[in-house]
Amino acid sequence: MAKIGGYLQYERINPPKTNIEDRIKNFDEFEQLLAENELTKQAARCMDCGIPFCHSFGCPCNNKIPDWNEMVYRNHWKKALELLHSTINFPEFTGRVCPAPCEYSCTLAINRPAVSIKHIELQIVEKGWKEGWIQPEIPLYKSGKRIAVVGSGPSGLAAAQQLARAGHEVVVFEKSDRIGGLLRYGIPDFKLEKKIIDRRLNQMEKEGIVFETGVNVGIDISARYLNRTFDAVVIAAGSTIPRDINIPGRELNGIYFAMKYLMQQNKINAGDEIPEFERISAKDKNVIVIGGGDTGSDCVGTANRQGAKSVTQVEILPKPADERMSYNPWPYWPLILHTSSSHIEGCERNWSLSAKQFEGDGNNINKIIFSKLEWSDPDAKRNRNMIEVPNSEFSMKADLVLLAMGFVHVEHGPLVNDLGLLLDERGNIKTDNNFMSSARGFFATGDTILGASLVVKAIKSGRDVAEKVHQYLS
Ligand SMILES: Cc1cc2nc3c(=O)[nH]c(=O)nc-3n(C[C@H](O)[C@H](O)[C@H](O)COP(=O)(O)OP(=O)(O)OC[C@H]3O[C@@H](n4cnc5c(N)ncnc54)[C@H](O)[C@@H]3O)c2cc1C
Ligand code: SF4
Repeated sequence: MAKIGGYLQYERINPPKTNIEDRIKNFDEFEQLLAENELTKQAARCMDCGIPFCHSFGCPCNNKIPDWNEMVYRNHWKKALELLHSTINFPEFTGRVCPAPCEYSCTLAINRPAVSIKHIELQIVEKGWKEGWIQPEIPLYKSGKRIAVVGSGPSGLAAAQQLARAGHEVVVFEKSDRIGGLLRYGIPDFKLEKKIIDRRLNQMEKEGIVFETGVNVGIDISARYLNRTFDAVVIAAGSTIPRDINIPGRELNGIYFAMKYLMQQNKINAGDEIPEFERISAKDKNVIVIGGGDTGSDCVGTANRQGAKSVTQVEILPKPADERMSYNPWPYWPLILHTSSSHIEGCERNWSLSAKQFEGDGNNINKIIFSKLEWSDPDAKRNRNMIEVPNSEFSMKADLVLLAMGFVHVEHGPLVNDLGLLLDERGNIKTDNNFMSSARGFFATGDTILGASLVVKAIKSGRDVAEKVHQYLS
């Protein structure tokens, strides 16, 4: 245990953030690190409770949170880093972007602010980089087996690193021009600067992993070729097909999928030239984001940084409660209203609205017609019914509309079709208990099998699939 009664002595202190006025002038990360003496106090708040729900229930990677809290408190940082890396490959990603389900299941969170788990995780790994403790881990033994990983998001990267460290030869194929999947082109720089990914990729290259960008597997190289050339294949292609809204006016100019918008800004930040006619800018525009989730929130933060005139986020579901309902107790993920740093930067949020029609001035969108919805209370199975409120239609000005209504499933392109892969009822690749798809030797991981999920779950899935591939090859 870190410090007896530490949680009674110290209050939770959150890491400082650059003020809003300054941070929306650029795309840089704006959360800073707490001073080390303050962090020690934050670690001291961990009670090392008998059953650490943060570790066993909250964190999908089962990070050994109480153990590394104690190590930080005792100033054994290198040991803390070792413990952290024993369960998760890229804590510098999760320490920045994880929604931290661990903190909602922290025992302190029953009636006090949780331990600052996510920030302690970030500081452990950042200290590791600063001190030069994070070095390539080159295996002493080579198996002579070759593995192809298709897709370079967090799941593919975690699988690749685990397999390379187990002595296998790993080639990662990525159809995009840069490695990283949604870490690179979905999540905005103000949440995760891309040099953080490059630093880790550099380590992975030194561990022997080969990265091939601009290779669309199924089109540029066939699944048959992979089958012939590699001993196993891991499909980590994500869940990339966005949910669309087919209402009148959908064809108007100025309506884009969120990913197209976010990807373009991330490319601009990386120094790419985007021709003026292709540029999607929110500058001086009334922006409406349809979809109340995290992707929508990233659009809000991006639109504010581009100088939008107004930003409104619209959600079809009802506004969540401010506090947990009786059917949603601790330590479960709280189904409450979550407000992101992007929302705080400036955004009007609306719930229980259904978009009925896009209307334009010529070919360009200039307003959206919405109607109001009423939702019933949840039934025994927690389902709700919705009805449209009669005569409730109204319009909102819109010069730029961003569709952020989630993703349906992995792309059902040549990679999936040529192999005739079986899919589950949601359209994700179906796997057995060993993460193997219906094609022998072809495994699958991450959002490709889970549907759109989280970075931490993708990393866990990548580690799990690597273990099964290693067993298969042994
Ligand atoms: C805008 C946005 C913001 C998000 N923010 C957060 C956040 O803050 N926190 C969080 O925890 N999660 C967040 N997520 C979710 C998280 O990013 C994903 O759950 C995670 O990246 C999934 O990892 P993955 O490796 O399974 O797939 P992906 O990251 O989607 O990577 C899949 C990769 O496979 C490549 N690929 C696909 N098909 C082929 C092919 N045929 N050949 C070669 N390559 C191929 C794709 O180009 C892509 O690079 C966010 C998602 C989005 C869209
Ligand atoms: S990865 Fe996420 S859930 Fe796990 S300890 Fe870190 S912040 Fe918590």
